[in-house]
Amino acid sequence: MRRREHTDVIVVGAGIAGAAAALELAAGDVEFMGIDKADRFGGTARRGGVGCSIAGSPLQLESGLSDGMPRAVDDLMANGNDADRTWARFYYRRAVADVYGWYRQLGVDFDGLLHFEGDSVARWHRPAGGGARVMEMARKKFAERGLEQCWHFGLTVTDLLRDGERICGVRIKTASGQRAKLRARAVILATGGFAGNLDMSRAASPQLRNAARLLAGGNPDSQGNLHTIAARHGACLSSMGNVYTYANGTPDYRDPSGKRGVVVRRVRSCVWVNRSGERFHDEDLHITGLSATGKLMRQDGQTCWIVLPEATLPEVEIFDHYIEPGSDSPAETVARFFSHSPFVSKAESLHGLAGKIGVDARTLEKTIADWNSLLSSGAARDPLTDRDLVGLRPLSDGPWCAIQLFPLVRKTLGGVATDLRCRVLDRSGAPIHGLFAAGELAGMGGGHLAGSRPLEGLMAGGSVFSGRIAGRWAARTLRTSAGRGQAMRERNAASSEMLTRTA
Ligand SMILES: Cc1cc2nc3c(=O)[nH]c(=O)nc-3n(C[C@H](O)[C@H](O)[C@H](O)COP(=O)(O)OP(=O)(O)OC[C@H]3O[C@@H](n4cnc5c(N)ncnc54)[C@H](O)[C@@H]3O)c2cc1C
Repeated sequence: MRRREHTDVIVVGAGIAGAAAALELAAGDVEFMGIDKADRFGGTARRGGVGCSIAGSPLQLESGLSDGMPRAVDDLMANGNDADRTWARFYYRRAVADVYGWYRQLGVDFDGLLHFEGDSVARWHRPAGGGARVMEMARKKFAERGLEQCWHFGLTVTDLLRDGERICGVRIKTASGQRAKLRARAVILATGGFAGNLDMSRAASPQLRNAARLLAGGNPDSQGNLHTIAARHGACLSSMGNVYTYANGTPDYRDPSGKRGVVVRRVRSCVWVNRSGERFHDEDLHITGLSATGKLMRQDGQTCWIVLPEATLPEVEIFDHYIEPGSDSPAETVARFFSHSPFVSKAESLHGLAGKIGVDARTLEKTIADWNSLLSSGAARDPLTDRDLVGLRPLSDGPWCAIQLFPLVRKTLGGVATDLRCRVLDRSGAPIHGLFAAGELAGMGGGHLAGSRPLEGLMAGGSVFSGRIAGRWAARTLRTSAGRGQAMRERNAASSEMLTRTA
């Protein structure tokens, strides 16, 4: 496809933030060129859940839930979280219109609400069909407007172009190594986080430096090179140490580097044990990176095992970035994964299992026996961890299975600082002309919308929101800037002529 070398706005990144920005540019009648180093549209969202944290939505109202901006911001700021309160208020005040509304405009319904750790009410809105459908519907919107050809793939941005103080384009490299310059009157960066880059994650987060083994569980394309490039051009980076790490990662046996991991989740009838064979955490709190990760990091070797009867393995869900949407049923994925992974051990007896995973057999047997007596006692909560025991089955029958877990980097929560118009700020707090940033690159908004203790759904929600803001303000800035005048006057003249003729 022919690529123009000059346009109004270059959008770098074809994920959910870049898509939201580009749709705003299109709505503002601004010409754009979208580029991405991947070979297709969709970014991280294409294989994610893209559930959104929204307060006071129609779905919450229908479900009889009372929620709103002040409550959500209070939840977010709890426990001394270092989130950006101004951005958080800005986001939650407008999320119903700008995030819920955006999904609905794409034709995507929300079909469920989930209550995650950190939220005082069910606030995570699940889009029907997940990220694959959301991004497919976004792609269709571009196609409907005849704008699909504005997106170009297999192009990596290697630098920004400057004209004095103004950013005026990007340097790119093609997949075959050719280099070129693309010029524009503004550039919107929406290149995601750096959760695919373990070296950068460790360097940014002192907490992770000492982890014996750390897994990468974000999009492999999330390498963070635009963080470095933007900083070289004077951008301020904010809260880069807020690397959101989950406790429920297990190595991906298919990855020869041994660095990639997948998330294991949703199984209830299990316990987690450490190297001593003892429980240490409320196992139900494993979906977020809030309490579970801190607890795992304090265990010997920063590792633990999910212990469960082999018969319950099919209940386990694997959430894996490598699985193409629609290519595999969850049951087949899980069965294949567990039959191949060297981090899954099986044995007829607990004694045998303990030997395989290297924990003290007597302690493991006692942990399981104590757990079963607790469940048989009819207690409602676990005195050790306060886990809710309602509905849990005793773990009485072998053969047994253990899945080894390590910390897994999933998302990055800090990034390029911006103002409320998503203009990139330099280290003195002044906007860098012509440069906007949105999505995970910009800490979902402003540089650190979510802080170090995010609420689930703030990443997708914040990426859509900041993408829209960046697109709107880039369009507005161009419409009002001097150079745009002539083209706009010509277009306006043409449309008023058409209107006159129609009348
Ligand atoms: C498995 C998984 C599930 C998730 N589920 C949820 C969820 O349910 N709710 C939630 O809130 N968050 C979720 N997240 C996080 C959320 O999906 C992301 O934060 C969000 O999608 C980021 O969007 P983005 O547009 O900013 O970046 P991305 O979607 O990462 O897009 C960035 C794009 O930029 C491109 N790019 C990068 N560098 C360059 C370069 N130098 N040149 C050209 N192109 C470049 C990349 O190829 C990529 O396509 C999930 C994350 C993962 C990994």
